[in-house]
Amino acid sequence: MEKAIPFQYQFSSVECYFQSSLASLDELAGNAKVIILTDENLYRIYKEDIQAYPIITISPGEETKQQPTADQVISELLKIGANRDDLLVGFGGGVVTDLAGYVASIYKRGMRLGLIPTSLLAMVDAAIGGKNGVNHGLYKNMAGTINQPSFIIFNIDYLKSLPHEEWVNGFAEIIKHACIGDEAMFQLLEEHEIAYWKSHPDHLAALIERNARFKLEVTVADEKERGIRKWLNFGHTIGHSIENRYSLPHGKAISIGMMAAAKLSVALEGLDSQFPDRLKKLLLTYELPVHFAADHNSLIELMAADKKMTSKGIDFVLLKAPGNPTIRNISLKELTEFLKIYFQ
Ligand code: ADP
Ligand code: ZN
Repeated sequence: MEKAIPFQYQFSSVECYFQSSLASLDELAGNAKVIILTDENLYRIYKEDIQAYPIITISPGEETKQQPTADQVISELLKIGANRDDLLVGFGGGVVTDLAGYVASIYKRGMRLGLIPTSLLAMVDAAIGGKNGVNHGLYKNMAGTINQPSFIIFNIDYLKSLPHEEWVNGFAEIIKHACIGDEAMFQLLEEHEIAYWKSHPDHLAALIERNARFKLEVTVADEKERGIRKWLNFGHTIGHSIENRYSLPHGKAISIGMMAAAKLSVALEGLDSQFPDRLKKLLLTYELPVHFAADHNSLIELMAADKKMTSKGIDFVLLKAPGNPTIRNISLKELTEFLKIYFQ
């Protein structure tokens, strides 16, 4: 099997594989029992590749990411007789990798975890950095832990079955990375569109590895989100409240959030006033929405309940320039003023 690329977090190393697949699981597991957690869509498509293992399936979709599902997975693990040194492998999109990470961190106070992201979004974002959890009602990720997997396998072959809409979602996070840390990638993205990446697998694999490494490096440097990891929330403060309120897909919601954050950056951080138009063009090229007729009052209400909101306000990620983010504390009052105008 290929040599792993290790990323060293505070208490553990995450071994990353960019050429492997499900076929490597036995070798990675050693003597441990492998248990696969996946969703029904993936089960249907990849049944033959996972049938040698006990499999726990969940219903696809964000609605499944709730505590009762975690409890069901725990019951299944008990039925299977899983031990702490057995290996739970999350094979799926972000919903599966988040649930796998969460359950693995609490089952018998922690069992081994491996992740095989199958959606573009999970490959460049959700499966990386150890954050996991479940939603509570409308509020995203209200219960969860930070628990690094022992390995992550990245394999673009799994994207062959990914619905087009999910490609669009994944590109929102890629564009986010370009905004906060990679001007050259921003330009590269401007030269192409989704169809190009689908038809050039080598370039796609390189793009995914570039994004995965970016998130790995940021989260290694700041695992607990005290500093630079906050950059990854670019577009997410407003994005999450739109996602919650209007049940928009995550990528679409943060696309709208990034546009709003870019506008706010022009006003507060002196970002070049041409940049929002450039970002808008790029988002539209990748089939993402750039505006939404949202009701600002309900967005404000939701943002006031954001877990990152304190009495002082909320740490907002803005851009000084493309690839140059900054964190600015914005009071709820200031934010309210902006949202009233932006989403009028
Ligand atoms: P995320 O966008 O965070 O990855 P999900 O886990 O909800 O979120 O995945 C999005 C949707 O894509 C789900 O319906 C999931 O079943 C489906 N999906 C994920 N990966 C694949 C794949 N490789 N092939 C087909 N469908 C997939
Ligand atoms: Zn996101």
